[in-house]
Amino acid sequence: MTDCLFCRMVAGDIPADVVHETDRTLAFRDINPQAPTHVLVIPKAHHRNLGALAAADPDLLGAVVRAAADVARQEDLVTDGGIEPGYRVVTNTGPQSGQSVDHLHLHVLGGRDLRWPPG
Ligand code: 5GP
Repeated sequence: MTDCLFCRMVAGDIPADVVHETDRTLAFRDINPQAPTHVLVIPKAHHRNLGALAAADPDLLGAVVRAAADVARQEDLVTDGGIEPGYRVVTNTGPQSGQSVDHLHLHVLGGRDLRWPPG
């Protein structure tokens, strides 16, 4: 979709600080980080939210989740097979959640103590 910000980043029209890439996924640093590590993981194909991707292509959803786990390891948020120091993966859907880009993205957050419940 040419009017989608993240599709334009996949296409290379808008620069992205890419930290992880597979044939079907892309992960890049958030422009407005909310934690020392704040990476967005997206499918390269356009799907507007989690439910849309789960319905259309569950294999791709699995690839996006695997990429998020890879990013967490790469960012030293977990040791191999372990849980320390830990991280959070979150995705927003719809206006009440604060979703501002209608292309599914998982936020991978870590590097500080994260409060619960989130705001
Ligand atoms: P949402 O609010 O939809 O869950 O998350 C969208 C995220 O995209 C926000 O955290 C926002 O900072 C990030 N973002 C918006 N525009 C850009 C951009 O041009 N580049 C990058 N790297 N991140 C962006």
